[in-house]
Amino acid sequence: MPRERILSADDVPSAHDLKQAAGNNAKLRDDEIALRPRHMSEMVGQRKVAERLGIAVDAAQKRKEPLGHILLDGPPGLGKTTFATCIPHDLGVSLQIASGAALAAPKDLLPYLTNAEEGSVLFIDEIHRLPKAVEEFMYPAMEDFRVDITLGEGAGARTVNMKLRPFTVIGATTRSGLLSAPLRDRFQIREHLEFYSLEELTEIVVRNAAKLRVEIDGAAARKIAHCSRGTPRIANNRLRWVRDYSTSRATGQIALAIAEAALEMLGIDLLGLDAQDRKYMETIARVFHGGPAGVEAIAHTMNAALDTLVDEVEPFLLRSELVVRTPRGRKLTPRAYEHLGATPPEEQELPLFR
Ligand code: ADP
Repeated sequence: MPRERILSADDVPSAHDLKQAAGNNAKLRDDEIALRPRHMSEMVGQRKVAERLGIAVDAAQKRKEPLGHILLDGPPGLGKTTFATCIPHDLGVSLQIASGAALAAPKDLLPYLTNAEEGSVLFIDEIHRLPKAVEEFMYPAMEDFRVDITLGEGAGARTVNMKLRPFTVIGATTRSGLLSAPLRDRFQIREHLEFYSLEELTEIVVRNAAKLRVEIDGAAARKIAHCSRGTPRIANNRLRWVRDYSTSRATGQIALAIAEAALEMLGIDLLGLDAQDRKYMETIARVFHGGPAGVEAIAHTMNAALDTLVDEVEPFLLRSELVVRTPRGRKLTPRAYEHLGATPPEEQELPLFR
């Protein structure tokens, strides 16, 4: 991947530069940028996390020291990238953005490290995907702000120490369990992001409707929030879809009936689940008799990517108590059967769909 340019404090995270920095990163599309908060104080929800990070930012500023390294984990779309872009903006420092999946070798990481300005932030998304060699290269960079570079090969090889300017790594991961202990231990601050409440998502929908200059009534905003699986990114996507629907089929304003019709057209049900969520539950019910079933087997049967199921589908179903994880695999709960309109199996019996 080509190295991305460094952003200055003034324009972080201005639309133009974030887009350049992100390259083809679909997460930073134009209107996502328009809706993304610029300061932690503009973020809705995650108050405890924002408060703790705010204290760390304030202390770093007062001591004129770089902020300690921060690890953010949690399901996709909950605000990890948003925190990582707001923090340097609040600190008034520059930001570089990299992705664990694109850093195949230490030489891919080196330019980010040597370009890091004093006190700046290096955001590494999907940090659990860093190969071992890159991870090990990062240890001295994070701990002592130096890298060890080996020059030459065989008997003539020698190691050169290179000093770096003190900087801050913000790592984001959907799978903190995959991170090695030595890497995890190098982050002084570790925060887990939780799903958002209905009230918080409603506030996000109302604020973002205003940013998109759409008139929305309270009941419609609440309906969209309710159908967003606890996730701001999904709330934003649903809002944009409802806006399009209204522009095409109605006046462009969003009233409850419009929101309901638009969401129904997307196949979103009363719990806010989409077709893939239901297919996952139906597969466990029909093929695996309600479980327990291994997630790999479920993915194969559904012809879906394992990562998609583990990262995107399962967290919300687990939180909604529709599915449980047992040592022997995933299992549907009575609530899931009720939602599917199916009868839980008697011992060894197939479920009957009404
Ligand atoms: P992640 O990096 O965890 O996948 P993002 O930070 O990219 O998630 O968030 C996705 C979108 O959701 C952002 O573009 C932003 O518009 C919105 N968002 C996330 N967290 C918040 C928040 N706390 N308040 C308001 N909007 C948010």
